Amino acid sequence: MPRFRQILDSMAPYKPGKAVAASDGRSYKLSSNESPYDPLPSVVEAIAEGARHIHRYPDAGAVKLTEAVAERYGVPFDHVALGPGSVTVQQQLLEAVGDPGAEVVYAWRSFEAYPLLCDLAGVRSVRVPLAGEDHDLDAMATAINDDTRLIFVCNPNNPTSTAIRRAELESFLDRVPEHVLVVLDEAYREYVRDEDVPDGLALYQDRPNVCVVRTFSKAYGLAGLRVGYMIAHEPVAAAVRKTIVPFAVNHLAQVAAIASLKAEDELLERVEHVVKERTRVREALIAQGWTVPHSEANFVWLRLGERTMDFAAACAVEGVAVRPFAGEGARVSIGDPEANDAFLTAASTFRG
Ligand code: PMP
Repeated sequence: MPRFRQILDSMAPYKPGKAVAASDGRSYKLSSNESPYDPLPSVVEAIAEGARHIHRYPDAGAVKLTEAVAERYGVPFDHVALGPGSVTVQQQLLEAVGDPGAEVVYAWRSFEAYPLLCDLAGVRSVRVPLAGEDHDLDAMATAINDDTRLIFVCNPNNPTSTAIRRAELESFLDRVPEHVLVVLDEAYREYVRDEDVPDGLALYQDRPNVCVVRTFSKAYGLAGLRVGYMIAHEPVAAAVRKTIVPFAVNHLAQVAAIASLKAEDELLERVEHVVKERTRVREALIAQGWTVPHSEANFVWLRLGERTMDFAAACAVEGVAVRPFAGEGARVSIGDPEANDAFLTAASTFRG
């Protein structure tokens, strides 16, 4: 029997959202914050053309995609680093800073991958409880010590959907020592509509220890291809490039991401529909009597406590898969209007 690392004994594998079906076969997957839309024809075409080259390794440096991202955001080429999904970019960041004994601070509950990635990297997780549904940045700043190497700030926060405002985030960043890397996880940035929620790309400019991580998985609809990126000053980007395994971002992912940036107007129009549906869903839930935190992401959060798993089961009866966190609450992605209606029906039936 091989000897495994001890940490594996206490680790549970990441549990992805699953689809369920109603008795009549209807099935709405609102459990993974994916785009509800089919891929754009122009993107599918780019992938089909790209498929003609898959007997070759991809461009290891993903130069064209890096250029496209740099151009899109008006940042230097060497400020951009790519990875196979933003979750892997975050893993690369931990690889880059995670000496033995290192501590990593993040809010809890937040993105479920943070504890998993920390365990894998052999660094210590320091979980700072949310204040209500929001980051407690004051407590997070207090948690920093000499061993702290990295802080995850998920903005908007998965799964609670709330976002940190500019003044609060800036004063937090001012309190973080320069040798501590702050990862602004902006997986849901394209869904933010509150102008008081800062764009991380404005914040990193004069802060060498701040990086912004984003993804093509959500607004750009490429979850199945795995491509994410980070924007930061050159030393941080260089560190991420060093920690990537060779050829990690595959050729189809690279061409699809480039095609998606070209078709960005169409994709952002879709985001606008999701944002409208978010407002409709949240208002309908509130009218049903639910307490729903303000959402700046493509999902809503219901704090259900002990009723969480019953609620998920009630949604499954309508064919709606949500993401339950037992004893805490359920996160429900915004889907197309039909899926959202099925969810609202389930929520209304559950309230009785
Ligand atoms: N960050 C957050 C906050 C997320 O919710 C997710 C996906 N659920 C990710 C990062 C990772 O996304 P991906 O690896 O698909 O880019």
